[in-house]
Formats: sequence, structure tokens, C-alpha cells
Amino acid sequence: MLWLEMSRDADHGGPGWEFGTCLWSPTKRKGGGRWGYWDLMRRVHKGDVVLHLRGSTNRQHFVGHSIADADGYTTSHRPPKPGNWNHATTFYRVPLGDYCPFEEPIPLATLFRDHADKLTNYHHDHSPAGSTKGRFLFYVPQAGRLQCQNGAYLSELDAELTAIIFGSASVPENATQVATKSGLAKLQTRIGQKAFSDAVRENYAHRCCFPQCTVSDRSFLIGAHIVRWSDSPEMRGNVANGLCFCLMHDKAFETGLFVLDQGLHVIPTALAKVSLWAQPNILPFENQHIRTGAVRPSLTCLHLHWERVGYTP
Ligand SMILES: [Zn+2]
Repeated sequence: MLWLEMSRDADHGGPGWEFGTCLWSPTKRKGGGRWGYWDLMRRVHKGDVVLHLRGSTNRQHFVGHSIADADGYTTSHRPPKPGNWNHATTFYRVPLGDYCPFEEPIPLATLFRDHADKLTNYHHDHSPAGSTKGRFLFYVPQAGRLQCQNGAYLSELDAELTAIIFGSASVPENATQVATKSGLAKLQTRIGQKAFSDAVRENYAHRCCFPQCTVSDRSFLIGAHIVRWSDSPEMRGNVANGLCFCLMHDKAFETGLFVLDQGLHVIPTALAKVSLWAQPNILPFENQHIRTGAVRPSLTCLHLHWERVGYTP
């Protein structure tokens, strides 16, 4: 899931809580009730991509995207400038990192104009915010035109809605749009990497695949590439180029403390024999089989990993 933040200005919550550093909202409305668009904050997970829409009514632009630095949580710490949300005693907060601005902000009005029909149909199929199946959408068709949903601070963009908004058709092929295009390409890469990582973890049933490792907590798991994203364009997004490791085993594989042979057994490298960490943590598992999922790792990718870490069988 991709998330969309709608923020009025860059100040947002004041120092430490500014736009681009975190998402935040109250946990309750003034009268004490819950608000679905705020409760979404608890569903944001570390690594999720967040898209940012900023500006006052009718002047909003998509200005950039970032990555959630941690799962969403509840806190009694207060932003220095809670503004309209001053009533709250507890807040949701999601720290953000790696904010990447679009060189050329994309006006929301243009998207509403260019994709009115598709957006209206999508809303009709997915919206009813009151229903249990509906999505919390950032816009609503009203009196024959599209406008932002009031109070939709955080909302959901699934693959279908993202494609309507940022599908290639939305970017005209002319020179002035090159900056927008490259910004969107970077966003698409982020979305693709996130989808890959999710699919790899799913393939390994959300457990580290290293022999006898029992780590299954999602905050400690990585859906990692065997061959790096930048090194193998043709294997991008292919689950056979992925392994699900805990943080420690991911680091050990990435730095070449061990490789996997053709039969998917752990083979410690020369590096492991001189590493104080690897001696008790990798060497005892020599020749043991990793746990596999429905999609097995690609041998071509494993060979490329051997090459990268300098291993010769
Ligand atoms: Zn592990």
C-alpha cells in the first residue's frame, strides 16, 4: 500500500514535527470519537512509501515522496504547534526518512481534470468510507466535480489508483515535463522495491530463511535482493532474486560472510573464518540447507552473488 499525506503547509507541527520529517495526527476527534483517516497511521509500516500532497484548498501539489522510518505508533508527546489539533492529548506519529522532492511539483487540479472519469469510477467502486470494505480516499466527487475529501489527512493509494494518477499517460511527452518524469520514475522505483520486498517476505512466510533462525518479527525481516537492484535490471521485481533474512543474516549475506551453493546450502567464505561474529553464528551452519518458499532462488542470481563477493566453488 502507498500512503498519501495531505498537508496544508511545510510548518505542519512545528520544529521536529515539520512536513517531511513525520506524519502525525490526533488519535481522537474533539468529541472523543475515532476518525478512520487518522487510524490509518497505525497501519503504516517501516519501509512503506508515502506520497506528499501539500497546499491550501484548490492549490494542492504533489511535492515529493518519502519512506516510513518506523511503524506508526501512539505517543503522548506533543508537537510544538498542534494548531487545529490542539485538543488532542495523544497523537499518532510515523517518522519519515529520505524525503525526495519532485523537481517540478504536480498540480492536483491537472490530475483531477485529466482523469476525472477514471477517478470518479474508482471512487464509485471503492469509496464508501462508511462501509467496512471501502477505502479511505483523498478525494470525493461532489456536484459534478472532484475535490479533496475533508479531513483526509492520510489516505490509501492502491496499485489501481496509483496507476490512474501516475500512469504514463498522465505525463505529456514534452521537454518541460522531463523533470516531472524523472521524479515519477524514482517514485515508481520506490513503489516497485517495496512491492518486491513484500512479495519476497511473503514467499518465505515472513520468517528468516537461514537454517534454524527463528526470527519472524516483521520489523526484523528484510526481503533482500540476491543481485542488487542496480546491478540487474532484468531481475528487478523477480521473487527468485530475493531471500528473506533477519537483519543479521541479511548483513552477513550482503557482506559475503556466506554464500549459498547450487543446492541452497550455507557455505561460509574465507571472510567468515576471520570474523568474530561469524565464527559462532555462521560457521556451525556450514552445509545446512536454507528454508525455501514456493519460489526458489534463481541459480543465475546466486552465481552473480558468488562473483560479487569473490567466492569460487
Ligand atoms: Zn536470521
